[in-house]
Amino acid sequence: MRRLVEVTSRVLVGTSDFCTTTTTVIAADDGTCLVVDPAAQPAEIGELAADLGELGLQVSAGFATHPHWDHVLWSAELGDVPRYATATTVDVIDAQRDEALRLAEESAPGHDHTLFGRLTPLPTNTSTIPWPGPTVRVIEHHAHAPGHAALHIPGEGVLLTGDMCSDIEIPLLDLRQPDPVGDYRHALDVFSAVHGVHRVVPGHGSVGDGIELHRRIEADRRYLDELETGRGDDDPRLTEDWLRQSHRSHLAHMAA
Ligand SMILES: [Zn+2]
Repeated sequence: MRRLVEVTSRVLVGTSDFCTTTTTVIAADDGTCLVVDPAAQPAEIGELAADLGELGLQVSAGFATHPHWDHVLWSAELGDVPRYATATTVDVIDAQRDEALRLAEESAPGHDHTLFGRLTPLPTNTSTIPWPGPTVRVIEHHAHAPGHAALHIPGEGVLLTGDMCSDIEIPLLDLRQPDPVGDYRHALDVFSAVHGVHRVVPGHGSVGDGIELHRRIEADRRYLDELETGRGDDDPRLTEDWLRQSHRSHLAHMAA
């Protein structure tokens, strides 16, 4: 994990060497902070906890954007605090914990199993995270994973997109859902209608500005257009074997 970098005065982002996975920290005025998707290796989460200590920030809550293994990690060093997620994300990780844990052990062994995926559903009828810091709006959708949530921090002009709007990954579809492309397009439409975004933070990749957010939304729409006509092989983000494999799975699904 590279050290936390200031994206705005209240939003800090650290980036892991594992799949360029980001961890976002949102600071409140009272010296507490919200930690979103701490990742990815156990030692890196320890370093994150040490960095927060040096900054004088005490974790008051966590948030997991979606029920994939690299987004539901935690360490005792971050504290015993509520780790929120959408109710759907909690249901999915509760049902698929063993499989998610197996994937975590394969790629980033040594996480605390007792804390893995132990999430608290957001209170019903709430669209913000209950914590003392800046307002964090939860934008729930079903692209990439059921119960996936983007987080919008309007006072900071920041949008955390979870596993979407990446500069290094194509749209990754959840092919078990009835309409994975439609779900994806809908979420992109929702993101493009969010006003005043000056910084986009993807779950994997680099932080961009507001213009870059719209460039990525267009790149993702273009990929989906191509996919629906059996193409997309020339997307510049297809740089690694696992991404090319995902693309082939998408194509096979569309042809079926
Ligand atoms: Zn994911």
